[in-house]
Amino acid sequence: VTGARRSVLERIVDDLGRHYGPPVPPPVSDPLQMILWENVAYLADDEARAAAYALLERRVGTDPRAILAAPDEALLEVARAGGIMAERRPAKIRDVAEIVVAEFDGDLSRLVAGPLDKAKRGLRKFPGIGEPGAEKILLFARRQPILALDSNGLRVLSRLGFGEERKSYAATYRSVQEAASREIRADFDRLITTHLLLRRHGRTLCKTNAPVCERCPVRDHCRYFESRRTSADRVTRSRPAAGRPR
Ligand code: SF4
Repeated sequence: VTGARRSVLERIVDDLGRHYGPPVPPPVSDPLQMILWENVAYLADDEARAAAYALLERRVGTDPRAILAAPDEALLEVARAGGIMAERRPAKIRDVAEIVVAEFDGDLSRLVAGPLDKAKRGLRKFPGIGEPGAEKILLFARRQPILALDSNGLRVLSRLGFGEERKSYAATYRSVQEAASREIRADFDRLITTHLLLRRHGRTLCKTNAPVCERCPVRDHCRYFESRRTSADRVTRSRPAAGRPR
């Protein structure tokens, strides 16, 4: 997409790409591996999660039957590499293996290639996978061209002005996703890049508390930044001249 034909969202994504550089995709994109990736660690940063996942691959493997046969200590060792609350992780990792064997005959390829709603319902049976997580798996496995968003991406798009804040996370997610999806082509590379750059921006500058708007490469497009600036101007204008800082 070039020049004037780019949508606002496409311009934002291009600006983020110039600012942060090409995004690095997660090391796994197979659906079962992505589910294990989510479950090897709890609230871990990317490095700790990658360490736990690498240890799972080395020590046990990612074949569900190998996981079911693995000793508790091996899974606990994996979980400890991922950080906090490791004691609860082995059961989660085993649950993943049990569900894929019992309900999907050890293979998710048919599920993710099927109808979208059925695929999402099937993926949500796994621990730690909600609707956004299921959509992310389907996007990264290049099965469904959906603009999946993690909580960072949702926050960034919402502040930029896409969609509306609703009563629940799920309703806000849907509103923001619908509004943003109208401005982006259903192209896997573009959608994956958008997901990753919005995530990076949300973790770097557009954080939950105190976003660093002064350094933001997309602030000229941002409704939140505009409203902050407008209210700051109003305060300045309403202050008596003598009280203004010099
Ligand atoms: S201007 Fe601020 S609120 Fe808006 S996207 Fe940038 S960092 Fe986030």
